[in-house]
Amino acid sequence: MKTMRRNFLKIAAVAVLGWSVRPASELLASGGSEPSEGLLFASRHKVHAGPNSLTAKRWAMVIDTAKLNEKVMEDIVHVCHTIHNVPNIPGNQNIKWIWETHMEHLFLDEHNEFQPETAAKSALALCNHCDNPPCVRVCPTKATFQREDGIVMMDFHRCIGCRYCMAGCPYGSRSFNFMDPRPYIETTTPDFPTRTKGVVEKCEFCAERLVEGKMPACVEVSEGALAFGDLADPESDVRKLMAERFAIRRSPHLGTKPCVYYLV
Ligand code: SF4
Repeated sequence: MKTMRRNFLKIAAVAVLGWSVRPASELLASGGSEPSEGLLFASRHKVHAGPNSLTAKRWAMVIDTAKLNEKVMEDIVHVCHTIHNVPNIPGNQNIKWIWETHMEHLFLDEHNEFQPETAAKSALALCNHCDNPPCVRVCPTKATFQREDGIVMMDFHRCIGCRYCMAGCPYGSRSFNFMDPRPYIETTTPDFPTRTKGVVEKCEFCAERLVEGKMPACVEVSEGALAFGDLADPESDVRKLMAERFAIRRSPHLGTKPCVYYLV
């Protein structure tokens, strides 16, 4: 037990050192998460697919902002938060896996004063499942990790609540449980774990549904506003949509390579 604790402290110390001596821009922009890049850069985890699993080389989501309306966005947030036992905590300690926000908040660098209608339009924000995720690199316990198919996961039991991942994510895609979330869950779904105080959580592209051969729940209720598929397959829905329409990503200059695309 003592050895485990010593090893953990060593890793945490190296992580802190790495975070403090390397500029954030360098951390964000430097390469992928390959093992050759050093102690902090974990290799991608194998996907344990079942016989019915939906599989891909690189999962991605495309959001058609023209098809989003109040009802569709409410349905999407509702289904996601219900099946994942996301608590409804009032105030600034709220937990969010997917949420509605203005385009000007999503695309800080794209906004200009000559397109006020576009800036005020609402769209959805969620974890971008970045191909080069800084949140994964800074996690000292590997509680957040990336699968071979690109999905950035959370192991709630390994999370020690240090919140380095939240500091590392430039998109505010992660939420922290400052209090016990369980009393704030409206109807607990037994099929998905609830979390505890001191744990970080976020969207996982419905990995638990993909293994059962189901598409993400948000896509199913989106009335065509959300598409999900394999970025590596030119015949996939996501690639076809991106070939037909202009697609943008959030802050691509950071080098994180987000895999959520917005059709504008
Ligand atoms: Fe990590 Fe944030 Fe990218 Fe999601 S959006 S993979 S939390 S850096």
